[in-house]
Amino acid sequence: MTAVSAGTRVLALLGDPVSHSLSPVFQNAALRAARLDGIYVALRCGADELPGLLRGLARAGGGGNVTLPHKAAAARLLERATDAVRLTGACNTYWGEDGVVCGDNTDVEGFARAAHALLGARPRGARVLLLGAGGAARAAVAALLADGAERIVVLNRTEARVAELRAAFPDRPIEAAADAAALRGERFDLAVNATSLGLRPSDALPLAPGAGPAFDAALDLVYAPGGTPWVRRLAADGVPAADGVEMLLHQGAAAFRRWWGVDPPLEAMRAALP
Ligand code: NAP
Repeated sequence: MTAVSAGTRVLALLGDPVSHSLSPVFQNAALRAARLDGIYVALRCGADELPGLLRGLARAGGGGNVTLPHKAAAARLLERATDAVRLTGACNTYWGEDGVVCGDNTDVEGFARAAHALLGARPRGARVLLLGAGGAARAAVAALLADGAERIVVLNRTEARVAELRAAFPDRPIEAAADAAALRGERFDLAVNATSLGLRPSDALPLAPGAGPAFDAALDLVYAPGGTPWVRRLAADGVPAADGVEMLLHQGAAAFRRWWGVDPPLEAMRAALP
């Protein structure tokens, strides 16, 4: 970020809440490192304000990110959407191009890069246990299918949500599991926590140790300084595990590429994360 002037491009995170977000921290670090004339701010907004803010910022030459609870609503506001938006029904990145409001869901690329970093390769042919069936789970499914995962088994508290997720990816190898015990004796290459369990200190682990199937690696989409309780527990048991910081970083890096059309200064972004 250079000094703010009349030409400074405004990027805004739209959601509620946004005060905890790390995006302003690492996106402004990226702008400074790349010497781009932009500023990234976080705006808490309700559903009524979303259309005006998103369209207004995009048409004024800016853009930004969208977070909970507005990702699905944002997808419906776009005039030009990527395949990732169409597949997941969610938009986390928006910008203006030739007066058109454009959007992407870079959580898909963020997940793909985080899984690659953890596994050391793309999950082609992998058997994956997916905990959760919300927006983050959909992004994970889109990435896993694009990378050629062989089998995805979804476990979620609310069964109806699993049915919705499966319906969004018809004719694809997505199974539903009744509970963890039903999978005992099975082995997965990767387990993914796409529930929000782990955000609060009082939360249960997303999968009780020894309660269900075995897995060779785990990716927790929740992140916390020093790793989430699930990641710390698995690491103590010798299971390769990572929290959601890498996904956060790479969804932000992909968004940066959409806004500016240049490669992001990844190491400056990484260094700005706590
Ligand atoms: P969401 O659409 O609201 O989905 C929440 C999921 O968590 C649902 O599957 C929900 O199950 C489950 N859940 C919530 N409370 C639970 C509980 N007490 N016990 C069991 N399951 C519970 O949210 P989302 O957008 O998918 O986000 C999920 C998590 O991913 C969030 O914590 C978010 O921080 C994280 N995330 C991280 C990144 C990243 O870049 N690292 C990006 C996106 C999201 P039900 O269907 O039964 O309610």
